Amino acid sequence: MRYWQLGLLGYPLEHSLSPRLHTAALQALGWQGEYRLYPVPPGDDRALQQWVDRLRVGHVHGLNVTIPHKTTVATRVEVLTPAARAVGAVNTLFRTASGQVAGDNTDVAGFWRDARARLPLEEPRHWRGLVLGAGGAARAVAYALARAGMPVWVVARRWAQATALARDLAPHVTAPLRPARWEALGDLVRAVGPRWLIVNATPVGMAPRSEASPWPAGLPWPASAAVYDLVYHPRPTRFVQQARAAGLPAVDGLGMLVEQAVLAFVRWTGALEAQVRSAMRAAVGLD
Ligand code: NAP
Repeated sequence: MRYWQLGLLGYPLEHSLSPRLHTAALQALGWQGEYRLYPVPPGDDRALQQWVDRLRVGHVHGLNVTIPHKTTVATRVEVLTPAARAVGAVNTLFRTASGQVAGDNTDVAGFWRDARARLPLEEPRHWRGLVLGAGGAARAVAYALARAGMPVWVVARRWAQATALARDLAPHVTAPLRPARWEALGDLVRAVGPRWLIVNATPVGMAPRSEASPWPAGLPWPASAAVYDLVYHPRPTRFVQQARAAGLPAVDGLGMLVEQAVLAFVRWTGALEAQVRSAMRAAVGLD
């Protein structure tokens, strides 16, 4: 029986929940293996390349990648999935049937699956996406929404970052993707039109600075909106609390964390998705 060697490349890694999720899946399946943290300091491209090579020769069977290597590693693999190519970042490395190393971005489908499961987003074309932040996670979210047909506005404090996101993703989606300024948020959400899906893709509100919220103080919430916060520590976040107090459906990002891990684990092992999902959700206290 195979001993599954799985793990996570990044730096720093101490607070990652990934070992808990993947170990729970291995145990639920009764499989031998481990999911280990492999710290790779920023700029250590040689170590990154060595891990890619270990995956190619089968010394490890699956790797996740996190900050600060998600973008660099996309240039080190032979194949990129459409999601990884569009977003320009990889969070999952796997070996293809022909022995090539491939990069995927399971944050894209992980976010969209969880958001659709927990918020009333049938008919995405009838919603407008408002993504706060324009970093790596915002790229994954904006791509997921625009690919589903939702027009998206991306709001960042650095205009250049928001415009770069819109420019880079535009060739990969059909729905419009536009940059916007924080100062214009009020005018934007007051605009008459369909419902808003407001997504926090900044770290604002994350412990220990959990009193903070990305939603500008004093700005009324749109009457018709749903809210998704990628932050999940603490639970609920201030942003989620504020939205719920305004009567809006609002969820945090723990479900996304689980879904992106489910997709990676299934990609590596071929395990049944439902069994993996229920083990991982239970491991972090969901359901
Ligand atoms: P990132 O690449 O560093 O991007 C962060 C973005 O937030 C940047 O646009 C940054 O702008 C902006 N930002 C930071 N502080 C801000 C502030 N005070 N006000 C306004 N904008 C601010 O980080 P990331 O990888 O995209 O991750 C973003 C968050 O999502 C993190 O909290 C991460 O843990 C979370 N996340 C969750 C999941 C999940 O599964 N739930 C998955 C991925 C990420 P500047 O560049 O100007 O600072």
